[in-house]
Amino acid sequence: MPRILTRYRNGNYVVTLYADGTKAKETMGDAFIASFPDSIDLKITDYCVNNCSMCHERSSAAGRHGVLSHPIIDTFHSGMEVAIGGGNPLSHPDLLPFLKRLKERRVIPNITVNVIDLKKDTALIEELIRARLVYGVGVSCHAFDEFAVDFALAHTNVVLHVINGVFPVEDYRKLAGKGLKVLILGYKEFGRGREYLSSAVRERMRETREHLSEILPAFKVVSFDNLALTQLAVKEVIGTERFDEMYMGADGEASMYVDLVREEYALSSASEERMPLENTLEACFQALRGTARR
Ligand code: SF4
Repeated sequence: MPRILTRYRNGNYVVTLYADGTKAKETMGDAFIASFPDSIDLKITDYCVNNCSMCHERSSAAGRHGVLSHPIIDTFHSGMEVAIGGGNPLSHPDLLPFLKRLKERRVIPNITVNVIDLKKDTALIEELIRARLVYGVGVSCHAFDEFAVDFALAHTNVVLHVINGVFPVEDYRKLAGKGLKVLILGYKEFGRGREYLSSAVRERMRETREHLSEILPAFKVVSFDNLALTQLAVKEVIGTERFDEMYMGADGEASMYVDLVREEYALSSASEERMPLENTLEACFQALRGTARR
């Protein structure tokens, strides 16, 4: 069994996070009822020079950086995971002191970078991993990329992030059989994703759904966000029993999205309904629980 990174109580359950990124939840109740989110998707900047045509964030070279001194940060709980993204999070001038602050709070920071930025800033990312200022590293790839594969194979906690409808089925085949971890994200039809949506994207989504049972066993781990679970009908492919055993809950049940650029929060980054950021995580989370129940 891998080393335990952290274990904490949240509401009526106990969360154990292992050093290889595996998360387990145990409860004596019939359902998992959280008091605060186990994980937050945290956008820290809209700045990015890559100008990807499907970017649902519409990030650009004119994008603003978020305010990393927002008071909500001081209400983050020990043990919870924060997935830091952008834009290009490596471009934020306050990234390092911010990561140090999260470490002091015993929060578990993960970061997602595009492979283009990883190639430019490999040494920085490796230093962040070495100093335990980040644990998981998500590497976004829009197609097969040898550098991303080599980086993932050289570092335990790297997960390749691919977008349903963007990443082609033949490129999953190129990644197959190497012991890689992959996170499939749902295609978001907003931002530049609205204009990028085409018959080619829809066809790639259809092909991925059709070949999912071939894709799943080809990787060490395949995970999905909730949007991809729906788009790819994952429950039908793996069966209800296995699905229920691995499902981490709907958006807002134990997770949420915080945008420090616009100072907003939402159920997830795919939510169009956003609310102005409160000063405490509990206040945002409780309001979201109300939204999720509506
Ligand atoms: S998709 Fe990612 S890398 Fe591309 S423009 Fe948007 S934030 Fe930048």
